[in-house]
Amino acid sequence: MRFEVITLFPEMIQNYCSFSIMKRAVETGVVSINTVNPRDYTLDKHKKVDDTPYGGGAGMVLMAQPYVDAYESIERINNSVTVMLSPQGRPLNDSLVNDLSGYDQIIMMCGHYEGFDERIRDIIKPLEISIGDFVLTGGELPALCLIDAVSRKLDGTLGKIESADEDSFSNGLIEYPHYTKPREYRGIKVPEVLLNGNHKEIEKFRFEQSIQRTKLKRPDLYEKYMKNQ
Ligand code: SAM
Repeated sequence: MRFEVITLFPEMIQNYCSFSIMKRAVETGVVSINTVNPRDYTLDKHKKVDDTPYGGGAGMVLMAQPYVDAYESIERINNSVTVMLSPQGRPLNDSLVNDLSGYDQIIMMCGHYEGFDERIRDIIKPLEISIGDFVLTGGELPALCLIDAVSRKLDGTLGKIESADEDSFSNGLIEYPHYTKPREYRGIKVPEVLLNGNHKEIEKFRFEQSIQRTKLKRPDLYEKYMKNQ
């Protein structure tokens, strides 16, 4: 998977991907992370990438020319999709992450300040994706959410013991509780069933816990799950 991120702050992307599981995914070649900075494509001698909005109002708007030129500098491969990170986009969820993990290249457009000159949307026609109904200062964190979530779905990113198969949402439910050593902490004991080595009973316990938790914490998912049974 080739991730290409158009951003004014490339270090934010590269730094996050230099740690832990993402670092390993880069080093083993499961993913590559490339950044393109619109500031390198401005024709203005002061390297200006934003300007005041026509019609007035607060904030600065990202100018079309440096952004579109930065986008067009990226080599497109066959199975590629372009995503604009935007609070106005389709909400990101596990099913959309699964769909995106089927591409070989994801080009991501990070905004900043007030956002994009509308002509950037008109010309590039990206798929707009939001990470929730709130507004962040820039698209770098949303892009990293997408990179991280998609990378977890790719063969070779997680080791066998970190498998994503039983993660929340993978079967429409949220995950069962986890425990590790010690057996008792501040008077709270690990459920007996997890200690007896009976895999059938453990599986049954975890499934029931998953159902109960989903009903309690995410009644919307619970209802959907029950409808599909
Ligand atoms: N004025 C814009 C609006 O109201 O739709 C918000 C601009 S926001 C301050 C700056 C940039 O942060 C956006 O262009 C986008 O790239 C990113 N961003 C902010 N919130 C986001 C969210 N919830 N999901 C995805 N991207 C977001």
